[in-house]
Amino acid sequence: MGARICVLASGSKGNCTYISDGVTNLLIDAGLVCKRLEPLLRAKGVELSSINGILVTHEHTDHIMGLRSIETKYNIPIYANQRTAASVDIRLHVNTSKWIRNDFESGFKLGTIQVIPFRTSHDAVNSVGFSLIVDGKKISYVTDLGYVTQGVFNAVKGSDLVILEANHDLKMLANGRYPLELQARIKSNTGHLSNIQAAEVALALAKSGTKCIILAHLSEENNTPELAWGVCYDSLVKNGFNPGKDIYLMVATQNVSTPMVTL
Ligand SMILES: [Zn+2]
Ligand SMILES: [Zn+2]
Repeated sequence: MGARICVLASGSKGNCTYISDGVTNLLIDAGLVCKRLEPLLRAKGVELSSINGILVTHEHTDHIMGLRSIETKYNIPIYANQRTAASVDIRLHVNTSKWIRNDFESGFKLGTIQVIPFRTSHDAVNSVGFSLIVDGKKISYVTDLGYVTQGVFNAVKGSDLVILEANHDLKMLANGRYPLELQARIKSNTGHLSNIQAAEVALALAKSGTKCIILAHLSEENNTPELAWGVCYDSLVKNGFNPGKDIYLMVATQNVSTPMVTL
């Protein structure tokens, strides 16, 4: 049946990604309330009620804002590691104790999809990314991290498709209206990946066999889709790749969902 992937929304105002093998339907993060998420999914022919589980990367608002309304309206199981669940509990005042699985860190199966979390370097209590094995394809989700550790790269290399953060352009960040403190936070090892960092990782992924990269979590303030795409494109071309032929490069944005990618 293949794997189907759609980044429904991506950025600091709310993140949500749909991944399915036609049997098991999952969301990664739910930073959009029901009222916004339902029509985005419906536009792709998916009902929110058909979702079998939601995986949570970390407790920042743009990743969890919809969990409460989804929990109230639908009975969809939510999964997070213990420290993240406790932190969401404090922020949203929802009982997150049933979200915790003892096998979370080591990886687990949700229906027909294998879920493998990995630690990321970010200013959250215990943030993670995910690799999912979906009908034999490896799909990885790696946003909200200050840099790609060797552990993260080992986890995501060889993925068929990677949703990869390209948060900011360094010049736009430096010349923008963010205060210096916030700029420092974004650039730090526990902040967000710049376009240049994303391009380095994209190249390493391409060398590892990755065939599709969706750049994500772009800052609306300090980046543009054209810049993020251009930096990655140039680095791939310079190194002998032919984007559009041997690797597909896409950009996810805050307000327009990506097409449904099928692998
Ligand atoms: Zn975020
Ligand atoms: Zn974050």
